[in-house]
Parts: sequence; C-alpha cells; structure tokens
Amino acid sequence: MRIVAQDLTYTYNAKSPFASQALCGVTLTIEEGEFFGIIGHTGSGKSTFVQHLNALIRLTGGSLKVGEYDLADKKCNFLELRSKVGMVFQYPEYQLFAETVEKDVMFGLKNFAKDMKEEEMKAAVREALEIVDLNYAEIKDKSPFELSGGQKRRVAIAGVIVTKPEVLILDEPAAGLDPLGKKEVMQLLHAIHGKWCKTIVIVSHDMDEISENCTRAAVFADGKVVMEGKPHELFKKGATLVSLGLDVPVTAKICMLLKERGIEIDTDFSTEDFTAKVLALYRRSKEGIC
Ligand code: ADP
Ligand code: MG
Repeated sequence: MRIVAQDLTYTYNAKSPFASQALCGVTLTIEEGEFFGIIGHTGSGKSTFVQHLNALIRLTGGSLKVGEYDLADKKCNFLELRSKVGMVFQYPEYQLFAETVEKDVMFGLKNFAKDMKEEEMKAAVREALEIVDLNYAEIKDKSPFELSGGQKRRVAIAGVIVTKPEVLILDEPAAGLDPLGKKEVMQLLHAIHGKWCKTIVIVSHDMDEISENCTRAAVFADGKVVMEGKPHELFKKGATLVSLGLDVPVTAKICMLLKERGIEIDTDFSTEDFTAKVLALYRRSKEGIC
C-alpha cells in the first residue's frame, strides 16, 4: 500500500488556549515495499504524523491515502485499515498486560479476526513469536513481566504483527535498549520486511540506524518535512542536519571537516566505502596527485 500525505495539518487542543500546532503541512509519499525512516528532533511532529497513518489521530486538515483507503472519507473502514496498518508505539512493552505471553499476543488478533478458531489463533501467535525469534513452547505460558527488556519488546512487536499488517509502523523501536538489543530489533525488522509486512516505517533519532537500515528517510522540523531522500543523499547535506539540531554519522562528520579544508569525498557514508575512499585519497596525495 502506497502512503500519500498531502498538506497534513494538525493542532492539539484546537480552539482552546492550550492549542499547539503539531503538523504544519506535511507532504510525503512512502512507496510500497520501502523501509522508510522518519527523523527529527523532539517535538517536530513525527509521532503525530505516524499516528495519522492508521487513523489513531483522525485527519483534520489535508489529505491522506493509504493504499485504497482515503482517510478523509468519513465512510472509510477504519477497523479494516487498522488491521492492515500495524502500529508499535514507543516503549510498547509498557502496554503488555495479560497473564501470559500467549494471551497478550492473541489479544491483538481477537480484535481483528473475530471468526478465527482458538487453534488457528494459537498457530498465528506461534508464528508471530517465532518470527521475532522467541521460542513459543518456552515462552508462551510465562508472564510478560518475567522477561528481559529486549524480550518484552519483541513480544509487544509480535502482538502487532500477528495480524500480518501490510504496513508496519514503529515509533522509536530500538529506544532504551542496550546495543545488542538494538541490533536484534533491527535484525528482526529486516526478517519481517517483505515477508510479513511489505512496508516498514520507523521513527528514529539514531542516524546510524537510519543509514544502515532505511531505503529512504524524511527529516521533520517544526511540523514539516524539510528534507527527504536516500540516507547518503541526506548525509551529504550534513551541515543542514546539524543546523536542525540533528546528529550525523561519524563518517559524515569527518566529511564535513574535510570539506571545510577543501577536500570533498564522494561516499555513501558507510564505514567501508568511506575508509576505502580516504585511503585512495591518501595514496594519491603521496604520489603528489593532490
Ligand atoms: P515528536 O514525535 O517528533 O517528538 P510529537 O508529534 O510528539 O513530536 O509532537 C509535536 C508537537 O505536538 C510538540 O510541540 C508537542 O508538544 C505537541 N504535542 C504532542 N502530543 C500532544 C498532546 N497529546 N497534547 C498537546 N500537545 C501535544
Ligand atoms: Mg515522538
């Protein structure tokens, strides 16, 4: 499902003295099959935008289409839309509540698949837990509260993907995890991408995460999209990102310093490519070429 947002605007507590405009005209297209990143500093409107995509926040200004679903249409089947666009909130483990892991993951399914038999549901839960790399037999009867932080997060993700949504949105999926936990979450998202969920959209602060995982990304600032492109195209404009209060990968930082000294390196900012280009430049300089 292709996502097309045009001129989205949204104000919290509109018509009250506490009104706060969160989106000021967001225009963005996310193609089916992408692993799309949304970047921006706190308060730039990322969460408000993604919550529009499955109508958790109802459209009040602009237009939004997700596949065939027109979210501006009051007759849009929002329940069906939500079964196709799964949303994993920030720190989703705080929403685990059932006595057992199996019951928790099944809860998501019961909302959408009312005519499924118990056995079919159990099979779906098993599949969802296995795809997030948890051992069904070992974990299904445990309390979610007995698990480690990384395991809890994976259970929470399983609870969303159990309906096999076409689009999976995750708000800061790796936030608060240790480096290994972060790596595991990103690995499992790649395992899900294309097979279970055609399109993945992640909100992230971590530029290395965006650089390593995303096909394209959009940078939000003050409720708008200010930059959009493939990660290496965005990092080429590292100075603009820094002026927006955002970080850039270390390779992009070095490129910026070299540029100030008149040296331009044409790289995709991966450590491998960057190192190879710098070494080639060094060799040429030793031969007196530059
Ligand atoms: P981000 O996810 O990029 O940090 P948000 O979408 O959460 O940004 O917030 C955008 C703006 O909307 C911020 O100014 C924030 O303070 C405001 N905002 C977010 N949620 C609410 C809310 N529930 N009530 C009032 N204002 C809110
Ligand atoms: Mg947010």
